[in-house]
Amino acid sequence: MAEDSIYSELKKEGMSRRGFLKFCGLVAGAMSFTMLPPIEGLTDVRGVQSPVKHGTIEMVAKALQTKQRLPVIWMEFQDCAGCTEALTRSKSPTLVDLVLNKITVEYHETLTAAAGFQTEEAKLAAMQKYAGQYILVVEGSVTDLDDGIYCTIGGKSSMELLREAAAGAAAIVATGNCAAFGGLPRAKPNPTGALGVYEVIKDKPVVNIPGCPAIPEVFTSVLAQFLVFGTLPELDALHRPKNFYGTAIHDRCLRRPFYDAGKFALSFDDEGAKKGYCLYKLGCKGPTTYNSCATLKWSGGLSFPIQSGHPCLGCSEPNFWDGGGFYQGQSAPISKPTGTVAAAAVAAGVAIAAGVGMANVAQKKAAHSADKEEEE
Ligand code: SF4
Repeated sequence: MAEDSIYSELKKEGMSRRGFLKFCGLVAGAMSFTMLPPIEGLTDVRGVQSPVKHGTIEMVAKALQTKQRLPVIWMEFQDCAGCTEALTRSKSPTLVDLVLNKITVEYHETLTAAAGFQTEEAKLAAMQKYAGQYILVVEGSVTDLDDGIYCTIGGKSSMELLREAAAGAAAIVATGNCAAFGGLPRAKPNPTGALGVYEVIKDKPVVNIPGCPAIPEVFTSVLAQFLVFGTLPELDALHRPKNFYGTAIHDRCLRRPFYDAGKFALSFDDEGAKKGYCLYKLGCKGPTTYNSCATLKWSGGLSFPIQSGHPCLGCSEPNFWDGGGFYQGQSAPISKPTGTVAAAAVAAGVAIAAGVGMANVAQKKAAHSADKEEEE
């Protein structure tokens, strides 16, 4: 084990071998690893096969015993800090705590205890120390309009700060719709000239994790993959990880059978709404919105907007605030997915949900082997 490895750092903080292997199980679950055959018989409470694969936990454990910490610098511009807030409500708070607090974040504008010049100095010191190695996380949109006066921190504009931090980054993760596509600040008439990060930074890999806020498990999964393997997930044309943004919410929606049967709620308090009918005629953007909300859900997998009776607002797509208006019935025709596509989408959804949701099962297996190791 390397002296300065992640494992040795965690050990110094008092983590046991059992705790470490549990953590590896969580990371493996979060990555929904797909390269190796699944562990036979590792299923969730519904009997769904876990996508956690043979050797994944061992592979994660080996990597964390040799790799050094992954530094993260987290900057906020025109935002509400909702993505940071959502992370604290994550389905896997242990993983989030460990990944963000113990082994990554060097600088976070909302969470830092320091203020003023002290904070700026800490950020610059981290950027110099980890030049070329750190992940830059951006929350919020940037703007250049009127010399950037609409968003300045420590006397520098958001654009200047973004370019400065991006220069030394190994990769950039734009979390939330504002950082990815401009979000609410970009709504008409876009008074600040808000832009998404990938429209500005062209010489570094930029991963977009749009949502309002971003789904915490998706964010953690991207970070975990880079932490363990030094790679980024495969991205779509809008720079979103394909494994989480590959299918429309409509294709995994629990109200989909009502859509197919032509049963729609026409107001928020009619009989159809009470019976859980499809929300398409109340403006649901699920058919044109790509994200994992219907499978990963929120607040520990409890629910997501459509399940709770609210139409999808399309917050993981560009131009979502102005794109069609909230609560206005959809009129554009929807191309119905074929049975094969729909089935594949459902299977993919289950796999993603199981990948993260199965972390507990993986944890138990890892903890069991740690117990055996300790006994031996
Ligand atoms: S239109 Fe919306 S509520 Fe209806 S099935 Fe599609 S995603 Fe679900």
